[in-house]
Amino acid sequence: MAIATPYSEKTDEQKAITEMVRQFADEQIIPNAEHYDHEDEFPQPIVAQMKELGLFGVTIPEEYGGMGLDLTTYAMIVEELSRGWISISGIVNTHFIGSYLLMKFGTEEQKQKYLPPMATGEMRAAFSLSEPELGSDVAAIKTSAKKVDDTHYEINGTKMWVTNGLLSSLVFVLVRTDPAADPKHRGLTCFVAEKEPGASENSGEYAGFSVPPKIKKMGYKGVESTELVFDGYRCPVENILGGEAAGLNKGFAQMMDALELGRVNVAARGVGLAQRALELALKYSQERRAFGRPIAQHQAIQFKLADMATQVEAARLLTMRAARLKDAGERSDIEAGMAKLFASEAARLCAEECLRIHGGYGYSKEYEIERLYRDAPLLLIGEGTSEIQRMVIGRKLLQRHKI
Ligand SMILES: Cc1cc2nc3c(=O)[nH]c(=O)nc-3n(C[C@H](O)[C@H](O)[C@H](O)COP(=O)(O)OP(=O)(O)OC[C@H]3O[C@@H](n4cnc5c(N)ncnc54)[C@H](O)[C@@H]3O)c2cc1C
Repeated sequence: MAIATPYSEKTDEQKAITEMVRQFADEQIIPNAEHYDHEDEFPQPIVAQMKELGLFGVTIPEEYGGMGLDLTTYAMIVEELSRGWISISGIVNTHFIGSYLLMKFGTEEQKQKYLPPMATGEMRAAFSLSEPELGSDVAAIKTSAKKVDDTHYEINGTKMWVTNGLLSSLVFVLVRTDPAADPKHRGLTCFVAEKEPGASENSGEYAGFSVPPKIKKMGYKGVESTELVFDGYRCPVENILGGEAAGLNKGFAQMMDALELGRVNVAARGVGLAQRALELALKYSQERRAFGRPIAQHQAIQFKLADMATQVEAARLLTMRAARLKDAGERSDIEAGMAKLFASEAARLCAEECLRIHGGYGYSKEYEIERLYRDAPLLLIGEGTSEIQRMVIGRKLLQRHKI
């Protein structure tokens, strides 16, 4: 693979794959997103095509049936998918985090068992930290797992806001295994919980795992967000991520590592949404006339376009930089936090400015910007809110520059 000039240019391979995904977004996602968004319906035909394109296995090594591409290329793909509709990137996002957890921490048996069906999208993955009473404060997790015999742990508790909660086959779920641990985060373990995709009540070997009806949301429709209820769900010992000896009570560090990657992923989604808002604003402002000329000829509108374009470009550069540092094996905790913070705020700003440029039509469901405006705020929340990103950046900055 040719080496890209840092931080702007793409390798030939990256160009080819992102052009392919952009075309897919233009032809298959954008024309259909309105329907699935308005009906809050899972976009099954689009997902079927994504499976054919191999988009569920982008970062999974070739030996397990994936494409074996790096985080940077993955982020470029996510930008294109999100430019089409962020719910589509949401369907891949939790799956990507699950496959990363397996690749980095899984036993060879876990990799052999799950990565090949994940690479094709036959098995899709969700990840679950949040609970009804906590989100930012992950160390306070209450859902618990207790060893009940030599072969199984029993999981009890309720999880909240699980993206892909119903249709996934695997949930990487963080639960408490040591109630007495001090500090609390040392008592958490990640289990790979299997279930029947699409079943609200599981039975047989998955009994005790149920999925309540999906949560109704203002945006980010089509992809389901659900609670998960564990009531005596028996999870085999071998489904502790990394195995019992290596993985018990190590879940917090594993999940935090994955979330760093997840932040680059959310940043890429922000860039895609902001880019689309800019495109819509550029088009509409040259078509719409007011006071005898296209509104793009009014300086106040040009300033908005200029600010939006600057935000998009800066967000993209921060995102690519964080991804490239991670790919190079360098420390990227601050950079991933900065990219997520900046790109999600850029998406919110660009969505709002684009809506303003559309005037009254921006408030109509006939125009695409109305969907972007409802979708953008999610990016401020998932994978850590803007407040939490600032906490992470501030804390790590002081660690790096301790005097
Ligand atoms: C559509 C959607 C999909 C999601 N998907 C998933 C998923 O797949 N898996 C999953 O595990 N979770 C998921 N989440 C949950 C998401 O990660 C949490 O909502 C997020 O982490 C915030 O947690 P919270 O909602 O409990 O807010 P809280 O933690 O209660 O925070 C509330 C407010 O207080 C602020 N705050 C909290 N602590 C501090 C502090 N120390 N200092 C300053 N401010 C603070 C927050 O920034 C926020 O503004 C999803 C959420 C949504 C909306």
